[in-house]
Amino acid sequence: MTSKLVRAHTQVTVPDPAAACDVLATFYRDNDCSVSMDGKDHVISISLGTVRLGARDTAISIDIAAATDAAISQLKTGVITMVDQRVPGANLDCRWHGAGQNSEKGSKLPNFRELTVGHVQDLGPNMRRLRLHGDDLNPYLGGAIHVRLIIPPQGASTPKWPTMGENGLPVWPQGEDKVEPRVYTIRQINADEGWMEIDFVVHGDNGPGSRFANNATPGQFVGVTGPIGSDLPQADWYLFAADETGLPAVCRYLEELPADKTGHVIFEVSSPKAKMTVPHHPGFDLGWVYRDGSAPDGAHHTPVPDHHNSIAGAVGPMGARVGTQAGLTRTGPNPNPEPNAADMSPFAASICAIPVPADDQRVYCWTATEQKIYRQLHSHFRKDVKLGRDQCLVMTFWRAEAH
Ligand SMILES: Cc1cc2nc3c(=O)[nH]c(=O)nc-3n(C[C@H](O)[C@H](O)[C@H](O)COP(=O)(O)OP(=O)(O)OC[C@H]3O[C@@H](n4cnc5c(N)ncnc54)[C@H](O)[C@@H]3O)c2cc1C
Repeated sequence: MTSKLVRAHTQVTVPDPAAACDVLATFYRDNDCSVSMDGKDHVISISLGTVRLGARDTAISIDIAAATDAAISQLKTGVITMVDQRVPGANLDCRWHGAGQNSEKGSKLPNFRELTVGHVQDLGPNMRRLRLHGDDLNPYLGGAIHVRLIIPPQGASTPKWPTMGENGLPVWPQGEDKVEPRVYTIRQINADEGWMEIDFVVHGDNGPGSRFANNATPGQFVGVTGPIGSDLPQADWYLFAADETGLPAVCRYLEELPADKTGHVIFEVSSPKAKMTVPHHPGFDLGWVYRDGSAPDGAHHTPVPDHHNSIAGAVGPMGARVGTQAGLTRTGPNPNPEPNAADMSPFAASICAIPVPADDQRVYCWTATEQKIYRQLHSHFRKDVKLGRDQCLVMTFWRAEAH
């Protein structure tokens, strides 16, 4: 069944429209979005929908299309944010026409809900689960499993929430009412009972998200908007690799994947004491890597070497051979080549040591890590293993420096 698309349009006046379109298209392309040309317009496909950018006399013409009004609102925010950040001199005083008119000035953000903290449960030395209660959580069911939590100032009893500006950018409360958005994953949700649960990495009071979880008591408020993300693509074999921030998402995928799927899961946590209960999936091997230097557990481990350990010809955990995958344009004798392990953390080296099946199985590799590891993994999967955009999603989930 094909769903009907809804559309919206705006124009943003900029000093050099053609250059601005090129800058934006390059940004999306560099971030693994598919960008094509239709005449002189750039057409960008992202998980939420499509963005068409065209250079006009004095402005960029922006047309967006998506399946829902909520997705249209998210696209508006995303594309205008990009213009704001990347196109110097852009006049952001624009108006949108078409769908998503619930995004009028002063309205709430798409699917905004005010949630109330309920049960608080420690899951390990640095992980805490909060049950958050709210009305009408149906939009948060489904394949897009992430949300943007809007964290109020510590101790605020009646928080002020952001509203939607006419140009598609949220208008954020300022001063003592300042709120902070942070992205998290819905670990479990029950819309009938009106709650969702989120597992927070608690790394101190050094960031709004962690501080909120660290000090959470029943009755506190937090905002939520979204959902963010898209369905996990269909594959036969999956690789999931994540530190604690991606662990809730991987747990959801393991719960939801049919029993005939196979693959490998590898987690990095601080120490063996921080290992968590992970849903059992019969087709998946599970490995753990520890930041405290403890010996890895079940991981296909490549220690950071004095000399390079060859993994060429390795037999993977599921007996998959390294070779050339049908339908892909991998070149050279070893399509899953030895990573430059000397520059890698033990976690990154362990991930890169897992051979991606080389037969005609459909494969999908999903990683969620700190930014420095992200760079190594992106290069490994895209350039070395030569997976296509539709075969891997390599993501930064956090940065080891402040926002
Ligand atoms: C799609 C997506 C889904 C995510 N899901 C989850 C989830 O379910 N649970 C979860 O806990 N996180 C999740 N994250 C990661 C989370 O958004 C980041 O860790 C975020 O930076 C936390 O915000 P903060 O306010 O605590 O810290 P920030 O204000 O961002 O940073 C403050 C300080 O804390 C440090 N810091 C931030 N995160 C960490 C960390 N994980 N470990 C150690 N130090 C850290 C920073 O380097 C900085 O020095 C997800 C991220 C994405 C993109």
